[in-house]
Amino acid sequence: MIKYINFLENITQIVNTDKPFGETEQFIKENFKDFGELETLNIFLLDNNTKVLRDCYKEMKPIQEIFEDEIAVKYNNTIDEFWFNDFIINGKAYKLPQNIEEITIKLKSLAFPIYKGDDICGLIEIVFNSETAVQLSFLHVMKIFSSIIALKIQNTVLDEKMHTNVEFYDSMKSIAKIIETQYELTYIIPLIGEMLDRFIEDHLIYIFLRNNDKFELFWPKSCNDERAKALMLQLDSESTYLLSDDGKLGAFAMTTENNLLGCIIAKSLSERLKPKEIDYLEQLTRQASITISRANSYSEVLQYATLDALTGLNNRRQLETRLKQETSQAERQGHPLSVIMMDIDFFKNFNDTYGHAIGDLVLKEVANTVKQTLRESDIPARYGGEEICALLPFTDLEQAKQVAERVRQGVEEHEVPVEIDEKVQNLKVTVSIGVAQYSKGSKPEELYIKADEALYKAKKNGRNRVEINDKI
Ligand code: GH3
Ligand code: MG
Ligand code: MG
Repeated sequence: MIKYINFLENITQIVNTDKPFGETEQFIKENFKDFGELETLNIFLLDNNTKVLRDCYKEMKPIQEIFEDEIAVKYNNTIDEFWFNDFIINGKAYKLPQNIEEITIKLKSLAFPIYKGDDICGLIEIVFNSETAVQLSFLHVMKIFSSIIALKIQNTVLDEKMHTNVEFYDSMKSIAKIIETQYELTYIIPLIGEMLDRFIEDHLIYIFLRNNDKFELFWPKSCNDERAKALMLQLDSESTYLLSDDGKLGAFAMTTENNLLGCIIAKSLSERLKPKEIDYLEQLTRQASITISRANSYSEVLQYATLDALTGLNNRRQLETRLKQETSQAERQGHPLSVIMMDIDFFKNFNDTYGHAIGDLVLKEVANTVKQTLRESDIPARYGGEEICALLPFTDLEQAKQVAERVRQGVEEHEVPVEIDEKVQNLKVTVSIGVAQYSKGSKPEELYIKADEALYKAKKNGRNRVEINDKI
């Protein structure tokens, strides 16, 4: 009797140490010494979503990856036996007899289930080195042993879940904060996409928005999945989400006030979507819906706005209006018109290292420097994201190049003071700039295309530099 109590006490202690459960195998094995020498100790957990058994002592790998097919099948059949029997002793299934006298059993191998409530959630197998005689009460002790392990496993899984949950909610909060101050979908949607990518393992994420009753892919750049497209066509304004029959593909509807705005697709590379992942997807989809509908109403209001809210520069719409005016004036009066197009170098690093609020600040400072460097008659605008563009009327390519060089230098010299952990740090920022001149008779938008090509060259040639496009 004392043997049993000691054993259970030791096991409880082992599983309650700070050691990760995956490292306790040897310690548990040693504690069987009062009954016999243990050759094997297997603890497998049943993944209820996929019905796959995973090895707790082999980084939770599916047992199919560890054992030969035959053996893996044997274990899967064993799990099924446990719905009707309590133990597999030397390969044969038995129910545990109640209230009978102690009998001696000769054991080589023994397998028994792990329970979570009334459900079987795994199995334990022990194999002795040689045939070993034990009392029937040993089997009762193994039942208690299994419940100690079950509790430990549940706590471990719970811990991990809580850990991911805390991270998820932290990310949700920071995304909510960014979204409050931004209304540009080209900036926000990729953030949502990247966050989903991080929390939904082994799945590809696609974000579609509806435009004139058609779904258009917004993020990432391509999606060739016909099944996904078929699934999303089944969504309507009252849907929350739909799963494919095999559970590996999910379409989550972004809706507002009975309007279907778009959808988020999660496509599995291996396993079906887990309930927790569906939960995450639903929450982020809701967040995305609010953002998109707000961005839509913003854009109605913004029809009348001419300035960009963050930088105070002209906004994109105003830039379009001014481009048309300036090109037609240049045509009529025959004076030159140029554009400089700049993009902050490695801007993503500011966001990633210091957070998006600091990124915003850097962008604002660069915008200020640009404004101050240009003349009154120049037209600086936020082209999109961290790209700033300026129309330079009465300026030819050579002069525009000089302006661009002044801007580039101004940005480089003006470090941005930011407070990080209560200390002021000066951040160095640089921009790459492309320059182009308007050619008479060409389409106004071609001016951007030419400047963009030069900008691309500036990036390719090492950044923090100016390149011109001298194509006519
Ligand atoms: P490169 O030198 O090649 O331009 O590198 P990069 O990191 O600047 O390039 P990339 O285009 O990959 O990254 C631009 C980033 O700017 C991505 C986007 O999250 C961020 N961004 C765009 N608009 C804003 C904004 O308004 N505020 C902040 N904080 N970040 C923005
Ligand atoms: Mg960019
Ligand atoms: Mg950039």
